[in-house]
Amino acid sequence: MTSSRPEATRRHWRETLDRYRRDFERPASDKYWSDSLDTASRDELTAIQNAKLAALTPFLYENSDFYRRRFDRLGLAPTDLRTVEDLAKWPVVDKTEMMADALAHPPYGTYTTMSDSVWADRGWMMFSSSGSSGVPRVFRYSHYDRQYWEWANARALYAMNFRRGDTAFIVSGYGPHCFAWGVQQALTHMGVATLPGGGMDGKARANIVLRFRPTALVCTPSYALYLGRTMQELGADPAKTSIKTILVGGEPAMGIRATRERLQELWSARLVEFYGCTEAAPHCGGYSCPASQGADGGVSAHLMDDIQIWETVDAETKAPAGEGEIGLTVCTCLNSESSPQLRFLVGDYTRLDRSPCACGRTHQRALGSFVGRADDLLNLRGIKMYPAQIEEGVRSVPGIGDEYEIVISTTGDGLDVMVLRVEHAEHGSPGSVAERIMAEVRARCEIRADVEVLKPGTLPKTEFKAKRVRDTRKKS
Ligand SMILES: [Zn+2]
Repeated sequence: MTSSRPEATRRHWRETLDRYRRDFERPASDKYWSDSLDTASRDELTAIQNAKLAALTPFLYENSDFYRRRFDRLGLAPTDLRTVEDLAKWPVVDKTEMMADALAHPPYGTYTTMSDSVWADRGWMMFSSSGSSGVPRVFRYSHYDRQYWEWANARALYAMNFRRGDTAFIVSGYGPHCFAWGVQQALTHMGVATLPGGGMDGKARANIVLRFRPTALVCTPSYALYLGRTMQELGADPAKTSIKTILVGGEPAMGIRATRERLQELWSARLVEFYGCTEAAPHCGGYSCPASQGADGGVSAHLMDDIQIWETVDAETKAPAGEGEIGLTVCTCLNSESSPQLRFLVGDYTRLDRSPCACGRTHQRALGSFVGRADDLLNLRGIKMYPAQIEEGVRSVPGIGDEYEIVISTTGDGLDVMVLRVEHAEHGSPGSVAERIMAEVRARCEIRADVEVLKPGTLPKTEFKAKRVRDTRKKS
């Protein structure tokens, strides 16, 4: 029996994934979910990446019109991209290109390899990019993806020390976003019990922690702060609860020292994080290991080198960044039959490192973890900075409230200025607090910002995802 090229390339792709799948159902040892993959030699990891990449490009060409058009436009054949070294021939795919495709080909776009017949046969769930701006991009996944997704996340969660006997409280709206669902599915696959925390307010959630004593909290960093404060308002101490681990995703936290310390002190718990994106890495890409928080204060996150190819590129030229140099993250996803993107520009600044990790894993690490997407970069009078750098400066001052706001505006004489609005008990005589914040911020991003010290409780409380920046400058 003959089959069409789309079917044949899909079958070959799936056979390749199956060939390199190990320890799918249960962990191989106490230390690693998959000893042989998590501690594989760099040569073996590269060989697996190459084998998967060689099967991926024909599959993409035959099953995604977006990719076929791109190959044809670039004058490349799928066989031109067979190894990790070949990847540089392929310009990175960015979000705007995907959005244009989604607009031109509603409602699903053509950038995925999901078809209506696969969806009818083994469709699992649809997810959507959470981007606050632009056209939402949707991603339909199959049950085949679900299994590979569970496996990938299980490996990461195991590295964070999630084990049977734990109970994880997952605080999420359970909307079409990958993070909470991915953790939910993977913990279920691992046999770790969960408490779904959707559809209730902070007080109800605080009472669940106190009453049912979960050992882990899964939420955004903003929510972990909010829930801890809610608990304090109820007269309880989050540091004395059963929570030992806080797994965060959706916003940077691990890479911002003051935020990391604030969360860990508030809950007297260890912070671990998931890093990824909806487009290329529905399961996590980066994750914390036992050695993620170094004694010297340095932090890192592992990437998953046998199921994704992570690179960094120069922010301006998009040419590959050298090893150890700061660049923007790019991901080729080798672990999906529905959304296996080729060099998708995820766009967080970090530094990749291949030196051995104290935990024994051989997969490369993002040093300093992640502090935000390039899209979020602020530019004030030519000086570029991350909101995370400002957050670090603001939160390093003792007594500062959790909420703060960055307001950028243009003065009457045309000068762009930044005002930081913070909360502190000394709002009546704010001089020294304001000066301290100015100095901390100036030390981190060489910018002069004015500081407005407000009475605690003035700024709106953030629940799930913080909106810190208000930019009222007129765009020319
Ligand atoms: Zn490690």
